[in-house]
Amino acid sequence: MSYTGPDFEPPQPRRSPLRRPLTVAIAALVPGALLGWGVYAAVAGPDDGSGGGADRAAGGARTSATPSPGGSVSATDDAKEPASTSPSPTVKEPSASASASKSAPAAPATGPLKGKVVVIDPGHNPSNFRHASEINRKVNVGTHWKACDTTGTATNAGWPEAKFTLDVAHRLRTLLEEQGATVKLTQDDDRPYGPCVDERARIGNEAKADAAISIHADGSGAGNRGFHVILPGSVHDGEADTRAIVAPSAELGERIAGSFVRVTGSAPSNYVGGGTGLVTRTDLGGLNLSTVPKVFIECGNMRDGEDAALLTSGEWRQKAAQGMSEGIVSFLRG
Ligand code: ZN
Repeated sequence: MSYTGPDFEPPQPRRSPLRRPLTVAIAALVPGALLGWGVYAAVAGPDDGSGGGADRAAGGARTSATPSPGGSVSATDDAKEPASTSPSPTVKEPSASASASKSAPAAPATGPLKGKVVVIDPGHNPSNFRHASEINRKVNVGTHWKACDTTGTATNAGWPEAKFTLDVAHRLRTLLEEQGATVKLTQDDDRPYGPCVDERARIGNEAKADAAISIHADGSGAGNRGFHVILPGSVHDGEADTRAIVAPSAELGERIAGSFVRVTGSAPSNYVGGGTGLVTRTDLGGLNLSTVPKVFIECGNMRDGEDAALLTSGEWRQKAAQGMSEGIVSFLRG
């Protein structure tokens, strides 16, 4: 199946005149922070993605990096997974998420992140599939109009991405609060659907977040494996103006990618990003409308059996959250 990224493009029209090319680029490696990642990249070798099932648009490179030959991959719009194919609500969670949830936020007044605000955006919503008309409503993301939200993907066994994203978000929240951060989630399965992608961005903006992260898992073809972090490209169109956040978001994303490799042992995506684990995009409302440093992370491919085995493991999800947390802590401590 085609790539079903975090914030899908509606199937029609395929391309708006306003739509800017997606950008897939290799980031400049940051010494130190990306040491582990560099090792992985060296072992795995770059993959231009052309052999993978992902259909991605190629285009202008990150403003702060030289376009990479590995960054040019085949291009189409992201596919939107119809709500009707969304997973059954009866599917059981495959592994325990003990201690992942918490009913009341801790309020430590100390820690290295005291005074810092982090907004965690768990991608999609477990109930989105019940609200097809609401989530298909178009919202303006500056560059174009797109669906309010999407159902997300699922493992072949039917475990939904929206459950994965919430579980990891809870774990990450706990870790960041232990560091003294003030943490806000954009949704906690506490609303019937959504929020829409524009509101997801607005929540981070209004919280004046020092860092924001949107958590996802991909729905690409079997054999496509690994994680990637999505960085905002430079957009200045309508309500969208990412020019001020491109550089800090890249730093945030590079640090998260580096710590994610180190803590999880997972390799960067073998189907996008040219082996770097970094992809820059200008079509995602959650990034285009952000005024605070923000990245998305696709933790793995739910449609690949080997990746799914990791994604459905509570032990691995804890590592994933730890990797994200360490990257965010590194970014915020400077
Ligand atoms: Zn997603």
